[in-house]
Amino acid sequence: MPRQLIKRIIVTKPKRFARITTVPELRQLRRKALLAQRSVGFVPTMGALHQGHLALIRQAAKENDQVYVSIYVNPTQFGVNEDLSSYPRTWPEDQVKLQALADEFSKNESVGQITAVFMPSTKEMYPSAPPSSEIDGQGSFVTITPLSTRLEGASRPVFFRGVATVCMKLLNIVQPERVYFGQKDIQQTFVVKRMVQDFHLGTVVRVGSTIREPDGLAMSSRNVYLGERRRAIALVLLDSFKEVQQVFARGARKRRYLYNAAMDKLSLVRKQQEALPKGKRALFEIDYISIADPDTLEELDEVTAERGAILSGAIKMLPVEDPQEGEDTGLGGGKSTVRLIDNIRLNLLSAKVGYIP
Ligand code: AMP
Repeated sequence: MPRQLIKRIIVTKPKRFARITTVPELRQLRRKALLAQRSVGFVPTMGALHQGHLALIRQAAKENDQVYVSIYVNPTQFGVNEDLSSYPRTWPEDQVKLQALADEFSKNESVGQITAVFMPSTKEMYPSAPPSSEIDGQGSFVTITPLSTRLEGASRPVFFRGVATVCMKLLNIVQPERVYFGQKDIQQTFVVKRMVQDFHLGTVVRVGSTIREPDGLAMSSRNVYLGERRRAIALVLLDSFKEVQQVFARGARKRRYLYNAAMDKLSLVRKQQEALPKGKRALFEIDYISIADPDTLEELDEVTAERGAILSGAIKMLPVEDPQEGEDTGLGGGKSTVRLIDNIRLNLLSAKVGYIP
């Protein structure tokens, strides 16, 4: 056989990944990897994959021999009035995206491969009882307090209980060397790191940067709900962070100056929208603006130039009023409220150049 061909056969890795729905099958595959001394990187998702997810999978493939991805819309992290039933589920498109990535990885010797996509049913994930989304609901849950009660947790009281519980289950099942989360959901990374530490889970939590649309909007599976009108002002949150960066660069360190810079921008845009006719405007409510310690996520009274802060926030884009003929109102016809979150690392470097880290 010609040498070149032999080499090609050796370096060409299998391109197909296993689609797995049960815990025993996943464990069997994981055991094989362990015995073969192959490292496993794990990327948990709820599907409706976009470039943010794909960047995490790329990072996992760079740092591990095998990549496991899970796609599971976890009911316990949705509150009773949240969008569980309408959450986008797009497996055919997700499969195409994952296959394209798998093909790309198979041509590159220096990265790992997508080995498995885990898509369990809810019965598989919650074997003994239908999971509850009630605040005082019964069940086997993991709670990480007080971290889970603040910011996102204040608006969505069951959210982090659901996230921690499903991540605990998934990490017990997959037992990856490394698990990958996006900075976009910054508080989630703190909750998971705390859980891994406090429960002695043998995995390393890796955080990938926020992937944004060309205009800066953080990618999110929920952006499909926005529609044209709300999408046009969805950047207001990031714009408010840029105002904070500017006052920080000019020397402001006290919380109230930094906080007010964000709130002034948000209030201004809200007033401008309120002044428009119903058929043209997109109203929003401010949920919170947080200026927090980069290590503990505790709110800061003063930000130092050396340590900087995590600047995060959430706004609620209210339902589209008076939809116009032929208007793109987004998935669901603009009827639902869309909550947008974002965060940046506030430090002098980012402030000086107006860079969004
Ligand atoms: P989700 O499917 O929304 O649960 O997200 C799965 C993972 O992808 C989480 O770790 C998210 O933080 C991460 N993620 C979502 N959007 C982005 C983004 N725009 N950039 C980077 N990571 C993201």
